[in-house]
Amino acid sequence: MIIVIKPHTPKDQIDEVVAEVERLGYTSHAIVGAVQSVIACIGDETTHHTLEALSALPQVAKVMAVQRRYKLVSRESHPQSTVIDVAGVPVGGPKLSLMAGPCSVESEEQLMKTALAVKAAGATILRGGAFKPRTSPYEFQGLGRDGLKLLAQARAETGLRIVTEVLSENDVDDVAAVADILQIGARNAQNFQLLIAAARTGKPILLKRGMSERIEEWFLAAEYILSEGNVNVMLCERGIRTFETYTRNTLDLAAVAIAKKETHLPVIVDPSQGAGRADLVPILCAGAIAMGADGLIVEVHPHPAEALSDGQQQVDFTGFQKLVSGLAPFLQAVGRSV
Ligand code: PEP
Ligand code: MN
Repeated sequence: MIIVIKPHTPKDQIDEVVAEVERLGYTSHAIVGAVQSVIACIGDETTHHTLEALSALPQVAKVMAVQRRYKLVSRESHPQSTVIDVAGVPVGGPKLSLMAGPCSVESEEQLMKTALAVKAAGATILRGGAFKPRTSPYEFQGLGRDGLKLLAQARAETGLRIVTEVLSENDVDDVAAVADILQIGARNAQNFQLLIAAARTGKPILLKRGMSERIEEWFLAAEYILSEGNVNVMLCERGIRTFETYTRNTLDLAAVAIAKKETHLPVIVDPSQGAGRADLVPILCAGAIAMGADGLIVEVHPHPAEALSDGQQQVDFTGFQKLVSGLAPFLQAVGRSV
């Protein structure tokens, strides 16, 4: 930590801050200038009082962290990229992971048809929400446990792995019994009790970025999971809320590049929630690949116009097939395959 002292603070008042730093168990080194002074502090903040509180002292201008606040997710602590074993399917390796399926599980026919179609197009992981976080309580809330049963059936019949959202701590065990990957949605991105409960299942976790979450907060949410001993976290960029109205969310592709640089975790892009527009999904997938994404999670529905949720952003079977074949040159450019 670096403590920046307010300009023109007399030496005796700087000494008071130094004394406080050392009283808290840190070693310090003060650099005193004619106008501006700073104090470098060395110590372990996990075992000592936080120095940030010293910004309350009248002589202190600000307290700045030197080290990253996230440790376990940082590439500094783990230079090699993590490859997650999703029941035999690697995520984070040289192959691009294709996750696809409906926004919501609606019926047996809808799910089974979609599972077969996305598998034929090259997907290895089936998505589908059984528990849906809807903005309005009057909208379709998902099939709940019946939806989980259909996902289990689709897994058994197609061999696709399953990613599905867990909305509440109460459902963690039931969802983990069916899912190969637990999805934590944007609306629960900083529900730390849910993150901890999900982490403790030991299952891989797809952690969406919150709608208004800063990149550092997203990494710190992942840190909650890793600090429970579960390293199998995929970071999922799904767009953030901005002032823009041409898109539902603003897909932050810079965040993908930053997540790849700063962390060792696989990064997945959700272009469906990302723009909220089916017409943009293919080109956003290409952009995600160029940014270094390790996987895509795409909403696919047999008849998007009849979908019970997110119809405007789902692609149909032909659309998905075309999307996947259109990715070939982009994959080739970055040395990846499906
Ligand atoms: C979804 O995947 O359908 C979904 C609700 O995602 P998000 O949490 O990113 O909004
Ligand atoms: Mn959706």
